Formats: sequence, C-alpha cells, structure tokens
Amino acid sequence: MPFSGIYLNNTESGLYYCVCCNAPLFSSEKKYNSGTGWPSFSEAYGTCGRDESNTNIMRRPDNSLGSTRTEVVCKQCDAHLGHVFDDGPTPSGQRFCINSVALNFKPGSVCLFTVSVRRTQQFRNFEKHHMKTVITTTNLNQNGTKATRGVKQHK
Ligand SMILES: [Zn+2]
Repeated sequence: MPFSGIYLNNTESGLYYCVCCNAPLFSSEKKYNSGTGWPSFSEAYGTCGRDESNTNIMRRPDNSLGSTRTEVVCKQCDAHLGHVFDDGPTPSGQRFCINSVALNFKPGSVCLFTVSVRRTQQFRNFEKHHMKTVITTTNLNQNGTKATRGVKQHK
C-alpha cells in the first residue's frame, strides 16, 4: 500500500539493503520524495552513469495489470523490490519506486556487514569499487573448504 511504508519519510543517511539476502540496493543519497507514496530513488547503489552492472538490482518486464512496467528485483536473490519508471529527476531521469517491506535500512555513513566466499563475480566487482576490507578471518569448514569472513566498510 502506498503511504504506509516505514521508509517513505526516512531522511536519515545510510544504505537500504535487500531484506532477504542483505545485498546493498539503494543509498539515502539518491532517495527523494516523488509524491507517489512509495520510497523513491533516482538510481540504484553502485550505478555508474547509466551502467547498472555493479548494482544489486535487475530490471525485468512486467506486463501484469494490463500495463507495461519494468519490475525491479534483487540481482542476488530474485526478491521483488518494486518498479522503475523513466519520469524521475535529472540527471538519471529514473524513478525507482520501492516497497518498504523489501528493504532493510541501516543508518550511518559507515555500514558494516560480513561477507562470505559465496559472493558472485558482480558483487566482487561492486566491492572492489565501493568497499574496503577492514578485517578478514579465514576458517576451515567441516568439509575442509575455506570460509573467509570479512568485515567490509563503505569507502
Ligand atoms: Zn536479495
């Protein structure tokens, strides 16, 4: 339901993560009030110009409700996030209308979270550009494989 989400009027600085898999999706820097009742963002976190290859979102055609819209899903876990429209503010011209229940907000300019070796190549690229390693620990799993857990900090 529009105008009901907990993040609609959130103006704190921080990052919005996927509620299912914890991938960083949107940043408060690109959040704006679109007047639609949905938390709105002008671009996904990690967007470089028009290149979304280092973001954790994916676009998908949505022909439900008799209209042609573009669904936004989490690239890492396929969770439904919302829709994107091309009537947003400049320079991106994009309006991501995202459902609050799909997001988990963590305040602060510094966001810490742990990572595992199961990262995708895309996520590794994202990390290379946007994050720095603070702590890394490597342990052996029961089956002999290495499990690296680290704490990453946003640059
Ligand atoms: Zn996800």
